[in-house]
Amino acid sequence: MKTILEINDLHVSFQTYAGEVKAVRGVNLRLEKGETLAIVGESGSGKSVTAQSVMRLIPSPPGRIKKGEILFDGRDLTKATEKEMFKIRGSEIGMIFQDPMTSLNPTMTVGRQITEGLMWHQKFSQAEANKRAVEMLRLVGIPTPERRAGQYPHQFSGGMRQRAMIAIALACNPKILIADEPTTALDVTIQAQILELMTELQHKTETAIILITHDLGVVAETAQRVAVMYGGKVVETGRVDDIFYQPRHPYTWGLMHSMPRLDWKQDEDLAPIPGSPPDLFDPPKGCPFADRCPHAMHICHDEMPEVTEVSGSHQVSCWLEHPQAPSVGKDSLQIN
Ligand code: SF4
Ligand code: MG
Repeated sequence: MKTILEINDLHVSFQTYAGEVKAVRGVNLRLEKGETLAIVGESGSGKSVTAQSVMRLIPSPPGRIKKGEILFDGRDLTKATEKEMFKIRGSEIGMIFQDPMTSLNPTMTVGRQITEGLMWHQKFSQAEANKRAVEMLRLVGIPTPERRAGQYPHQFSGGMRQRAMIAIALACNPKILIADEPTTALDVTIQAQILELMTELQHKTETAIILITHDLGVVAETAQRVAVMYGGKVVETGRVDDIFYQPRHPYTWGLMHSMPRLDWKQDEDLAPIPGSPPDLFDPPKGCPFADRCPHAMHICHDEMPEVTEVSGSHQVSCWLEHPQAPSVGKDSLQIN
């Protein structure tokens, strides 16, 4: 497998009146060609900020990439000019958001939003671009695409808009598609259709996908690998099987416990993790989960745990992995 994106030691902060919010604090991630990597974690964990950094869409000011590199096909995007980023955004890395209205242009027909990119970035003629736009709308399952291409986003339903956004994002055959909560606002049936569509298109185009979601059901169905984020850091990464069946980080255990299971009964609690996420104005110097972790030891509050290789595909950052740590948590693994 060829690595298409590598994020090394990324730090992103936002300057506010109340001080500096350290939203992303030393994130390392790797994305292989053609795979789907899910980034999971609660809101404020740094998932979206990490993704927006790749696109260099962090509003600056107040946001700033303070440190680290984002290697896309060997190029460091943190050093790219705005002009280079404009080119990359339109053709090499596509992005879809939870709310299509924030990224669709309400004053432009849906067809034109596809053809613009093709003509600008790929030097298509108007006629070629029109043809491709209709093809893309058909591919994402929009009925009567010839007619629909001439309509404006507000004339589309929510699900159709989401499809249109995927068509725009994929028209130029990007190498990476970043999908930030792409189906959260949709009802379950349409959600399933959209995810299926993304996966289908991915097989055709070999696009690598970064899928940001808090829905573990979606992860199980679409991703090959998972990165779990907490308090601006990646605390565990692994294949879907590693994370679902052999989770090693206490936060991941909590996440898995909070997932409704097939045998789940209405009156059973969904075991949310008690406590609240760390204060990112003044983040803890040790493990970000220490205040909520039932297994926290003294060292957890004082020092950030190093990354431990559980296996070639599975890494975790927790003091319980230290050879001298007490053996706890194995009981907590009874999740299936
Ligand atoms: Fe819990 Fe300590 Fe592991 Fe953090 S490092 S998750 S506090 S045991
Ligand atoms: Mg978000």
